[in-house]
Amino acid sequence: MHELYLINPAENAPGYFGLEVLGAWTGVNATAIADLATPTVAAFAPDNWKVTICEERLDPVDFSHPARYVGITGKVTQQARMIELAAEFRHRGKIVLIGGSYASLSPDALREHCDILVIGEIEEIAGELFEDLALGRYKSTYQGGKPALVDSPVPRWDLYPLERTWSAQVQTSRGCPFDCEFCDVIQYLGRKQRWKEPDQITAELDILRDRGVRGVFFADDNLTVMRRRTRALLERLLDWNTRPPDERLAFATQVSIDISRDHDILALMRNSGFETLFVGIETPNEQSLAEAGKRQNLRHDMIAQVETIVQHGMMVYGGIIVGFDQDGVDIFERQFDFIQSMPLPLISPGVLVAPETTPLYARMLKEGRLTEGADHSASLVSTNIIPATMSREQLRSGMTWLLNRLFAPIHFMTRLERYVALSGERKDFQRQALFAGPTALLARELVKRGPAEYALVRAFDRASVDRPDLVVSLTTIFSLYCQARHMLEVQDLWQPDLAGFERPSL
Ligand code: SF4
Repeated sequence: MHELYLINPAENAPGYFGLEVLGAWTGVNATAIADLATPTVAAFAPDNWKVTICEERLDPVDFSHPARYVGITGKVTQQARMIELAAEFRHRGKIVLIGGSYASLSPDALREHCDILVIGEIEEIAGELFEDLALGRYKSTYQGGKPALVDSPVPRWDLYPLERTWSAQVQTSRGCPFDCEFCDVIQYLGRKQRWKEPDQITAELDILRDRGVRGVFFADDNLTVMRRRTRALLERLLDWNTRPPDERLAFATQVSIDISRDHDILALMRNSGFETLFVGIETPNEQSLAEAGKRQNLRHDMIAQVETIVQHGMMVYGGIIVGFDQDGVDIFERQFDFIQSMPLPLISPGVLVAPETTPLYARMLKEGRLTEGADHSASLVSTNIIPATMSREQLRSGMTWLLNRLFAPIHFMTRLERYVALSGERKDFQRQALFAGPTALLARELVKRGPAEYALVRAFDRASVDRPDLVVSLTTIFSLYCQARHMLEVQDLWQPDLAGFERPSL
């Protein structure tokens, strides 16, 4: 029997979507979204292989694991730990494979740290890879292509600690036809979208539901971009997700904002179980949207578009970016006013970064505006780009002000109340009360931070009484608010006094 130990390493720093706050504030060992890479790779292992998965966000890495081969996956936000783990296992005589999105986008950064580098998608190379490993005659690099997904096996969720994750993942497609200048996804997965068949998708969902999962994040780059296929998929999900409310699955995914113009698709999404949509809203600055090639956000009223989605009973999680070339120093106030005017409690503001392989990176390189060396993935206020219209310090302080103002309890509460007032009704999920279990423990910690936080917890409590149909969304919003606060505190960015100033001092 051959043996492989597969690791999804810890993040360099807590991110918006982790739930590190649970461990840090309450000692509860859980994570928000299950890793999809490790169970997917495990599914390709032939029967004579024993595979063990380690999710480091949940369990410590076992450095004495007997497997001859150690596989490490990860995104750019995990790079430091990927390299650290690889060094330790090689030191212990193991053969280390590294793959995943960071390895695929920046292979040169990882090549020297492993014995086998797996670049690109696994489907077409898995057979050769496992065969070579079994023979002990492996190559130093395996390069995957852009396979059709119709033969992708069901991920090995039986090997993964799903019982400690709030949401599992299913990927129904890869790729996105848009071409945003800063996007590395399309460099890795392409602009031609590839799809799984509906039967494959429901087979994955069957397994997850049987294992007690009640939340699934569809890890598509843009689930709704191809409308005909989207409609067929949603109709299938509508037929599938018909159990009583306590057994129904709540879905989340990523879409582009133009979906708000398709009311029949929104209704299908809501009725089939979609509860949260991550949307790259980015900025109110039209010149910046044009600069970034984010054409789907242009020439429409984005505030009205977000409201439309919320009125359909789905929550929007908004991606926000500052630091485009067209952003002047007034961008921080503009962003604040823009975000506050939407029913958008959940946001993930970030500074524009140029990932390697993107057209933005190439342009910055040509213009001599890249800063090399530093790892920017662990800080919310730093970037590898030299800004065009402000100093690096202005960008840093403006962003610090913006984060503090947006996550100040009083301003967060405004957005929460706007969302609750506008949200369409949802009676299709049934969960425990908002402040039960881990969320109660989080609330207990949050109120210790002061009267403003106490008032925010009261606002959540009121909302859950007024709108019991939104308790699933309110639980998500509350937990991720606590996560954002934890992130800011860990990065030494939480400066509540700043929130009192109407504009940043730059
Ligand atoms: S819409 Fe999203 S996934 Fe598609 S290119 Fe733009 S940023 Fe990338």
